Amino acid sequence: MTQIIDGKFVASQIRNSLKEEAENLLKLTGKKPGLAAILVGDNSASKIYVNSKSKACNEVGFYSVVKIMESNTNEEELLKVIETFNSDDGIDGILVQLPLPKQIDEDKIIEAISPNKDVDGFHPVSFGKLVIGKETFYPCTPFGIIELLKYYKINTKGKHVVVVGRSNIVGKPIANMLVQKKDGANAIVTICHTAAPDIAFYTKQADILIAAVGKANMITKDMVKDGVVIIDVGINRIDDVNSAKGYKVVGDVDFENIKEKTSFITPVPGGVGPMTIAMLLINTLKSFKQKMNLK
Ligand code: NDP
Repeated sequence: MTQIIDGKFVASQIRNSLKEEAENLLKLTGKKPGLAAILVGDNSASKIYVNSKSKACNEVGFYSVVKIMESNTNEEELLKVIETFNSDDGIDGILVQLPLPKQIDEDKIIEAISPNKDVDGFHPVSFGKLVIGKETFYPCTPFGIIELLKYYKINTKGKHVVVVGRSNIVGKPIANMLVQKKDGANAIVTICHTAAPDIAFYTKQADILIAAVGKANMITKDMVKDGVVIIDVGINRIDDVNSAKGYKVVGDVDFENIKEKTSFITPVPGGVGPMTIAMLLINTLKSFKQKMNLK
């Protein structure tokens, strides 16, 4: 029987426990974990993401500040803002919403964030630690996937995980996390991308399939085996005349036609997405506790 993985529910459980912990920490230390989000330009999707991250922070009792900068901001101006937050003791996590305008070098910006405040887990220091299996800030979306697998007690040890997509924020980190010799990982991992001549050759072998591509309904029923676990990271807008907005959001997986063939599957929306923000909050709390020398 197919089980739908309810990321919205799991994320809300996590947020409730974070709220309780933040209240206790406030009593104990008189301080709140603080997150600074920087938004450059007026990309409407980025604005929505930053606002929802800031709202989530406030809801669990964290301090949150959003710095909005003009779309013609130059690298030096942005670096100065990062430096200010790096040395601000009230800020435990810094995130720069991507993508950045083209005059700014994203790598340079990510590297300017103190690794101690890198709650997005994109800094090369964080990523390097992740690859060698050391404790670090894990990137929020892969971290959320790991937590969902744990929550639903989905065994990964010795399982063949096929990841479609090799971005630095999803594909590469989730593959590297799942290959670690640790509980909740220890999988055999294959990564696919556009150079694969026949994606289905790989996806059909998956015990657990993670799709992080950005192509609506690309993974179809004929591409997976019976009983597969599917984690769909994709967020794609497709036209929908029945919706007032004129579109609907779907994943990379043809959910309706594939679900009966699966043992577990994440829906879009309501699967991986809500976990991403919950993990950002976990990382911010972790940074705060490290600063305060608390366990
Ligand atoms: P990127 O565009 O950075 O990477 C996409 C990856 O998919 C690339 O590695 C690309 O291969 C691969 N790919 C593209 N087309 C194909 C194809 N036809 N066959 C095989 N591989 C293909 O995307 P992201 O990783 O940033 O995001 C992926 C999706 O996840 C997007 O829809 C995004 O919106 C969503 N997302 C959702 C999040 C959430 O919180 N739920 C968070 C982050 C992303 P190549 O490297 O060869 O180009």
